[in-house]
Amino acid sequence: NACIEQIEATRQLNMFVADTFESARQLAKESDIRRSNGNARGPLDGIPVGVKDIFCMNNEAPTTCGSKILEGFKSPYESTVTQRLLDAGAIPLGKLNMDEFGMGSATKYSKFGSTINPWSKDFDKNALVAGGSSGASAAAIASGCVFAALGSDTGGSVRQPAAYCGVTGIKPNYGRISRHGMIAYASSLDTPAFFTKTAKDASIVLPLLSGPDGKDSTAIQDSISPGWCQLPSSLNLNGLTVGVPKEYFVQELPEEILNVWDQGIKHLKEAGARVVETSLPLTKYALPTYYILACAEASSNLSRYDGVRYGHRATTEGIAVNNDDSNQANALHDLYCRTRSEGFGEEVQRRILSGTFVLSAGAFNDYYERAVIVRERIRKDFANSFESGIDVLLTPTTPTGPFSLHGNADPIDMFMNDIMTIPASLAGLPSISVPTALSADGFPLGLQLIGAPKEEDIILQAAIAME
Ligand code: GLN
Repeated sequence: NACIEQIEATRQLNMFVADTFESARQLAKESDIRRSNGNARGPLDGIPVGVKDIFCMNNEAPTTCGSKILEGFKSPYESTVTQRLLDAGAIPLGKLNMDEFGMGSATKYSKFGSTINPWSKDFDKNALVAGGSSGASAAAIASGCVFAALGSDTGGSVRQPAAYCGVTGIKPNYGRISRHGMIAYASSLDTPAFFTKTAKDASIVLPLLSGPDGKDSTAIQDSISPGWCQLPSSLNLNGLTVGVPKEYFVQELPEEILNVWDQGIKHLKEAGARVVETSLPLTKYALPTYYILACAEASSNLSRYDGVRYGHRATTEGIAVNNDDSNQANALHDLYCRTRSEGFGEEVQRRILSGTFVLSAGAFNDYYERAVIVRERIRKDFANSFESGIDVLLTPTTPTGPFSLHGNADPIDMFMNDIMTIPASLAGLPSISVPTALSADGFPLGLQLIGAPKEEDIILQAAIAME
C-alpha cells in the first residue's frame, strides 16, 4: 500500500504507463498467507516490483513497448523473466514507460510522453531526463515506488538511466536471463536487465531471474545458485585487479566525470584492489558498429508490425479494393505503409530506414559485414585485457550527468551518450552501473564495472565494496 501511495504521489514524473494494482492486491494477499504460515518463497516474496513495458505480461495491463503500433495489445502469454518474478513471490505494480521499442537514451521517444528524473530541481522548466530507454524503471527505484524494476539493456538502456537516477543498474551477461517474451529490438544484443537500490539487492535478485529456458536458445545453460555471489563479509578486494581503459578518457570528458572516476579508483584501492591501466584499442569504432548492427537487426525484427496480425491498423478508407489482383496487392501494400507510418514514431522510422539501407545489396559489404567483423575484434580487445590478468574494468557510465529534458538534442548527440556502455554490449559482457557521487549541482553520477564473460559475481562484489 505504501508503494501504491508513492506511485500515486509521483504521477507527475510519468513513470507508470499502466497499473496492475488489482492483480497486485491479490498477489499480496496470497503472499501474506504464505509468509504467515512460514512458507515464504524466498527473499522476494511479497516485494513490490515494476516492469518495463517491453516485457509481455498476461495480466490486466496492455504491453505496448511505448509504441502506438502496439496500442492496446494484450499479451496472451507471460515473459520468462516476469514469470520468474511471479514464481519468486514478487508483486508487479505496473508497467513502466520507455523509449519506443527501446530506441533512445532519454525516455523521450514514447507515445506516452517523457519521463522526468526525480532528482530534477523542479518538474517543469528545470526538468531533467531520467535517461533511457528504461528511464522510468530507474526513476521508479529512485523515487521509492518499487524495490526492483525490470529494464532491458541493448546498448546501455539500464546502465545509463541508473547513472542518471542514482540507482544500481545491472546488465548481466548476454543470455544470462531469457529473452522469451521481451519484445525484440536487436536480438544479438538485447539483454533483460534490472535496477535495484543497491548492488547487494541486485545480487539477491539475479539468481532468481537467470537460468536455462527452453523458449530461448541463446539463454545460458548453467544456472546460478542463490549462494553464488559469495560476498566477503569484510568486503575485502585483496587479489582483485581492476583495469582502467585509457581509451575511455575521451576528449571533452568534463572535470566532474574525471573526478568521480578518480573517486572510484580510490574506493577500490582502499578495499584492497590493485588498479592498473589497460588498453582497448578498438573502442572508438564501437559506436558506429553498434548503430549499424542494432538498426539492421531492428529493421528485420520490426517487419512483423504490419497492421494485419496485431496492434494498430490504419483505416482502409480511400484504399482501392476490387477484384483485380494487382489492385489488391497495391491495397495491401498501402495498408502496410499507412499502418507503419502512423504507428511508428520518428526515431523508430529513422532506425528502420538506416537498418534497411545497411542490409541492402549495395551497402551490405561496406556496412553490415564490416560491422560484424569489427564487433569480433572489439570482443577480442576485452578478451586480451582479461587474459592479461585484469578481473574487472572501471569506467564512467556516461560522458555527462543527466541533461535537460527540454533541450533539442540532435539524434547523433543522443547516440554519443552511449559511448561508454556500448562496447560491453557488443562483447556481451556483464556490467553494472554503481551510483558513486553527486555533481556540483547535486545530480547523480555513476561508474561502470565491466566483467569477464559470465562473471557477474565479480562485478557485484566490486560494486558492493564501492557502495
Ligand atoms: N540508446 C541506445 C539505442 O538507442 C541503447 C538502447 C538500449 O539499450 N535499448 O539504441
